[in-house]
Amino acid sequence: MTPTFSSLNLVLLGPPGSGKGTQARLLAERYQLPHISTGDMLWHEVANGTGLGGEVQPELDRGELVSDRVMGGLILQRIDRDDCARGFILDGYPRRLGQAELLDGILAELGRRIERVVLLEVPDEVIVARLGGRLVHPGSNRSYHEIFDPPRAAGVDDLTGEPLEKRDDDRAEIVRERLRVYHAHARGLADYYRNREQLVVIDGNRSIALVAEDVDRSVGARVVA
Ligand code: AMP
Repeated sequence: MTPTFSSLNLVLLGPPGSGKGTQARLLAERYQLPHISTGDMLWHEVANGTGLGGEVQPELDRGELVSDRVMGGLILQRIDRDDCARGFILDGYPRRLGQAELLDGILAELGRRIERVVLLEVPDEVIVARLGGRLVHPGSNRSYHEIFDPPRAAGVDDLTGEPLEKRDDDRAEIVRERLRVYHAHARGLADYYRNREQLVVIDGNRSIALVAEDVDRSVGARVVA
């Protein structure tokens, strides 16, 4: 049964490859909320050759952050959609302090707030190994790992049988840049949410199921029927 609540607004923080997408998908299913991955939204724009896609592609290719102006517009539009009325799960936003403040401002105008911010901690060397072997199903963004979490049949998605791909920005030199960018902002963001008593830090360097148990416990405590 889907738990009942008036509005559940969640944020997942953590380095690239820390499992935010995987845990967000599990939460989205459990609470029947939209999973909003800003990275997926941006890559989608690039794949569709839109004006926005053309504007952001250089940053995506280099593993750098897209401007707060562009991201603010994107997130505002997305949260405004009907499917976010009961809440949402943000994966990849906010990435720096200014984005967190903007998000709080947008939500305050709607009489809402972030209920819980889950930070998945994973050491850099584990991230490099994880992303080096990551395989993605482009249609659904389901992800696998060549060694740690292989698909049932080599190179194809378990559910659709469609081919899996490597992300362009999972190349080693780009991963290093993405990690550098992450660490430049991580402390400030965590402090911001810790000061507001919204932050829960979880060891993400464990199995998906064990991490999911902790995520569920920390989020469940905020669900008010
Ligand atoms: P991700 O899939 O979350 O690792 O995001 C892929 C890429 O999209 C990042 O390396 C950034 O270039 C861009 N991106 C995603 N979310 C944001 C954000 N909140 N602010 C700035 N850039 C972002």
